[in-house]
Amino acid sequence: MKEPIIYTHEIHMDADSDVLRCPACGYEYNHPIRVVTNRGGVVDIIEGWEDSPRHIQATPTRRGSSIWLEFICECDHVWAIQFQFHKGQVFTKTLSRGMMRFEDVSEFWRD
Ligand SMILES: [Zn+2]
Repeated sequence: MKEPIIYTHEIHMDADSDVLRCPACGYEYNHPIRVVTNRGGVVDIIEGWEDSPRHIQATPTRRGSSIWLEFICECDHVWAIQFQFHKGQVFTKTLSRGMMRFEDVSEFWRD
């Protein structure tokens, strides 16, 4: 097993401007619920409190890997930021998955 990656240097921090806002309603209270990677059709999904990622096969996304960071806002909007790698460049996109009840979603650990 590889050692975990530990980031040691913060590049930028601005507590006011770096808060994510829901793209549907602008609310700043969003909870991470899922991370999905697609590496040439090998898809790994990390969700809620699951101990290990789920693996599935799917269609590759374009010519490079994709990463989705998915959130739910406290107004029930489910949305994601997608990072799409292509020929040395990374493109970002914000996507909506509609609405779910916040109470019904298993978010990532928090205290
Ligand atoms: Zn929202």
